[in-house]
Amino acid sequence: MTKSKIFCGCSAEFGAAPNTRTCPVCLGMPGVLPVLNRTVVEFAVKMALATRCRINLMSNFARKNYFYPDLPKGYQISQYALPLAEKGYVDIETDAGEKRIGLIRIHIEEDAGKLVHDEHMPSSYVDLNRAGVPLIEIVGEPDIRSPEEAALYLRRLHETLVYLEICDGNMEEGSFRCDANISLRPKGREAFGTRAELKNLNSFRHVQRALEYEIKRQAYILESGGEVVQETRLWDDARGVTLSMRSKEEAHDYRYFPDPDLVALHVDEAWIQEVAATLPELPLEKRERFVREYGITAYDAGVLTMTRPLAAYYEEVVRACGKPRPAANWVKGDLLRLLNEDRADIQACPVSAASLGDMICLIEEGAISGKMAKDLIEEMYKTGKSPRTIIEEKGLVQITDEDALARVVDEVIAANPNQLAQYRGGKDKLFGYFVGQVMKATQGKANPQLVNDLLQKRLGP
Ligand SMILES: [Zn+2]
Repeated sequence: MTKSKIFCGCSAEFGAAPNTRTCPVCLGMPGVLPVLNRTVVEFAVKMALATRCRINLMSNFARKNYFYPDLPKGYQISQYALPLAEKGYVDIETDAGEKRIGLIRIHIEEDAGKLVHDEHMPSSYVDLNRAGVPLIEIVGEPDIRSPEEAALYLRRLHETLVYLEICDGNMEEGSFRCDANISLRPKGREAFGTRAELKNLNSFRHVQRALEYEIKRQAYILESGGEVVQETRLWDDARGVTLSMRSKEEAHDYRYFPDPDLVALHVDEAWIQEVAATLPELPLEKRERFVREYGITAYDAGVLTMTRPLAAYYEEVVRACGKPRPAANWVKGDLLRLLNEDRADIQACPVSAASLGDMICLIEEGAISGKMAKDLIEEMYKTGKSPRTIIEEKGLVQITDEDALARVVDEVIAANPNQLAQYRGGKDKLFGYFVGQVMKATQGKANPQLVNDLLQKRLGP
């Protein structure tokens, strides 16, 4: 999510017309020199710190050589022998408890271009807008034991990157991508079996399904006495199968060697400390704090911290009304439902946190009932108006005046002599009928508790 590319000043933004965001450097013209974008290093350091990696004060760049039409230089600049960061971890919450997944390394590299195939014509086009867009590659240890764990691990990485505001997390646009290696081994054996690599999995669901399929495929081969071939495979979501893309024999020999155009990358301890000071509270810490500070459930805390803006919104509602639990219920319930129906996110929410907080205050004061609030929040969402304005305009205030309500109760009883007789004759269920009639007569504005009390008094137990 840097403004410019990793080694030149071209815009790194997604979605421009093909090849409009290119220059001699990212086009790989002869004689040009790459200049490293400082922000890329800063972002990678942030992720490294967030995942408890050890940051190498000196790292270097290598050329990863391969031929492909979307790679004009014939090599990709990446880090190889000495990556920026190593040996970190992330914790995931599995059904069997917390589990730690180790990270081998985090390095920075440039993206390649993109081939666009014309299905109607026998031709392909090259779009180099992506060439030179910065990437950080996170390589995990082989600690994952199931497709579910793989999905949890990816979600944790994704969430962290988005919280750090170093990646927009958009998987369709290729901002977050995943390659997964999978191998089977007999129970009790230390060494991993031959692996297959699944490339370009672009959703959490695809990762999980593809891995489930691969486990079955490899198990079938092994159980029938065959051998798994080391290869790269692709997931075909429509057919629900993985397909061989290239085998080891055709696999690239990247011939990595140090990039002579780029000097070693030095970061100093003081700067790392400076970057560390800018790290936001991460999702897991936030979740734990919400449970501790607001007394809400871990599940609710999980929903409310899904994104930083949502968490910030919730905290603002709490500040406005001082009621963390009702605030949690309204935000994760009605408000998120309305936003989901609109496919909108919290930043575009027409109900301000202050307004929602005020609405919760009105419920607590007894001015409106929870039921009325359900309609009120819809109206607030539709119009963006404050709850008090809507209440005034629509005359929504709850009737808590006991004398006024008593008159309505008496009228209702007088108007229903048959039901009264049946109730007195033992048909207890009719109590609810009277409550309903009073609510109807007051257009739902009567305080339910008060209606109950008054009816009990008039009708007897
Ligand atoms: Zn450029």
